[in-house]
Amino acid sequence: MTNSPGTASDGAGCIFCKIIAGQIPSTKIYEDEHTLAFLDIRPVNPGHTLVIPKAHYRNIFDVPGGVWEHVAKTARIVASAVRAGAGAEGVNVSSSHEPSAGQEVLHLHLHIIPRFASDGLKHWPQGEYKADEVRTMAEKIRSEIT
Ligand code: 5GP
Ligand code: ZN
Repeated sequence: MTNSPGTASDGAGCIFCKIIAGQIPSTKIYEDEHTLAFLDIRPVNPGHTLVIPKAHYRNIFDVPGGVWEHVAKTARIVASAVRAGAGAEGVNVSSSHEPSAGQEVLHLHLHIIPRFASDGLKHWPQGEYKADEVRTMAEKIRSEIT
């Protein structure tokens, strides 16, 4: 299901919309008019929290800027609380957009993952650009900025 740009659908069948509606339980951490934060049911590390908008948007490609700002504001508040509450040294704030990028729940969400130097998690592998590839790639992306 793809929403029209800037239009929240009703999220029929969406598990996170059901959490917002109280139809399935969650462990809430923070809530305001526009956003909800709750513990991820399968944490990378204990305290792993998800921040979502209360309106249903699929991901970064259809969410309006104002809603994204609400989510980012809540993520900033919750990140400090997760770090302190979980006794972590840092956090990863990450999110996946579209299934090819690893998005499984198609309701926009940010992961706030407590991190410890000793937790053994690895970042994804990085590559290198071939000659001239940096310039051509940058030009392609810049030409798409609207
Ligand atoms: P994604 O892979 O889409 O970035 O992340 C979806 C996240 O939602 C996963 O980390 C998964 O554990 C979490 N999740 C899926 N279903 C539920 C649920 O019913 N309750 C909670 N609290 N988390 C869920
Ligand atoms: Zn939803």
